[in-house]
Amino acid sequence: MAARPLIAGNWKMNGLQGASAELLKIIGGARDLGPAADIMVCPPATLIAGFAALARGTAVAIGAQDCHAEAAGAFTGDLSAEMLKDAGASAVIVGHSERRAFHHESDAEIRAKTLAACRAGLMAVVCVGETHAEREAGRTLAVVGGQLAGSLPDGALAESIAVAITVAYEPVWAIGTGLTPSVGDIAQVHGFIRGQLVTRYGDAGPDIRILYGGSVKSANAAALLAVENVDGALVGGASLKAEELLAIAAVYR
Ligand code: PEP
Repeated sequence: MAARPLIAGNWKMNGLQGASAELLKIIGGARDLGPAADIMVCPPATLIAGFAALARGTAVAIGAQDCHAEAAGAFTGDLSAEMLKDAGASAVIVGHSERRAFHHESDAEIRAKTLAACRAGLMAVVCVGETHAEREAGRTLAVVGGQLAGSLPDGALAESIAVAITVAYEPVWAIGTGLTPSVGDIAQVHGFIRGQLVTRYGDAGPDIRILYGGSVKSANAAALLAVENVDGALVGGASLKAEELLAIAAVYR
């Protein structure tokens, strides 16, 4: 299993400047809790610099939700991994299903973004997951396998891969719906992902964190995080409330 689990909150397009009060609660709670897990908050880009300043020297890391593959250039409205790093982020989510769906991001683009994150010194949280129709058609492992094959970087990074990337398995139909796969189904997919990572990265494969994401909340976290090869969670809605995020992280106490 990976060295230290990670509980990462994806705030999506939520949060104005006043949301720093919630971050301060998370920082204070993480200090009191001393959880045996890393905690990260990924706010919208407008909040990264302010949050990073508040979180500096604490147990809470700040991440971003997306990046452009290029370091700089004529890409109006986009942000490069270098800019996110400069603002104080230490990680970036890439390939979230909302980006794959609403921005039509392909595996190849996500792979380029993953490489950009590595280039900038950000950990890439690479998301994969099947739709409900794909699961119903019995295609879950084929879809997840294809996304991994297309989205992850190749061997050059193999030695440092476990610090450079984290994989997040997020079934699309479980995101924001209150639905979750059975623990058996999660174990199957996470076991499959682990096998793919070992095939691809050899000895480093077992050290790469595999997060589960999709309707994780304090009420179901203990059961979901106990599944083999689940090394933490990517949490959407529930991460907006400090008490919820901290209660999820407290599973690892
Ligand atoms: C997400 O969007 O990454 C996510 C897991 O959302 P939620 O926890 O709200 O299902």
